[in-house]
Amino acid sequence: MFENNNLQELVTKYHENKLAHAYLIETNNLEKALLDLKKLIKVLNCPEEFKAPCTMCNLCNLINLSNLPSLKIIYPDGTGIKKNQIEELKQNFNTIPIYSKYNTYIIMNADKLNSSSANAMLKFVEEPTPGILGFFLTTNKDIMIDTIKSRCQTITLTYPTSSLEDSLNITKEEYAKYKEIIPKYLDYLQKSHLDNKNELLLSCPNRGDIEIILKLILSLYYNYFLKLTNQEYDENIISIYPLTENLSEINQKLQIITKILTNMSYNVSMELILDKFNLEMRGIS
Ligand SMILES: [Zn+2]
Repeated sequence: MFENNNLQELVTKYHENKLAHAYLIETNNLEKALLDLKKLIKVLNCPEEFKAPCTMCNLCNLINLSNLPSLKIIYPDGTGIKKNQIEELKQNFNTIPIYSKYNTYIIMNADKLNSSSANAMLKFVEEPTPGILGFFLTTNKDIMIDTIKSRCQTITLTYPTSSLEDSLNITKEEYAKYKEIIPKYLDYLQKSHLDNKNELLLSCPNRGDIEIILKLILSLYYNYFLKLTNQEYDENIISIYPLTENLSEINQKLQIITKILTNMSYNVSMELILDKFNLEMRGIS
């Protein structure tokens, strides 16, 4: 069911009735680990015999929609995880779950628990209530507060890291070429006058090239978003172009870029799509 042995082991422990009540998960990829944990929670709770992807039951669908009341995922609020977030979680888990076997909580960036929020958490990890299962996710367990760490079983989830070139299926040479075009194009977008001569179109007549360039621009904006929100980001892609937009502008531009990538899959004239794109991107900054 899971490629990762440590996750598969949890499924085995579950069947042997030996699941611990709280796990500390150290991972190099929080988002992938979260996806895997959601799958694990489906496996443990699915009333049907879970086969990925389960489309049979309401429970698995609710997990996909992040709408299952008995699954709470807590992210840091600003710079830390606050005591009131933990108090709210405890309130939520006062009752026995209706649809699932477990009430499950997942604490993202659990190293952001401070002493007061960790203390509020102690009830769960110190006197475990049957039916409550917890996961603390961190990229570095050494900076986790000891009161929590010492009361959890630790597992490691390591994911292969893939380079941007690999994920876009391009060579290093092509990447270098695109990295030269992108700053020119973004400079061109910064100009306020509405010049419809499309430099990007002229320098790469191929639709596939333009698509990759737009994906790289999307990745640039996304990593800049990660940087602005104090999350881990890829310095390499950020260095392509110095973005200066604020968070709300970045969010709007991410939407515009995602939309143009969707539109490109329709058979519309590239020139028309790009003209509209240029106008929208300029409308914001
Ligand atoms: Zn299911």
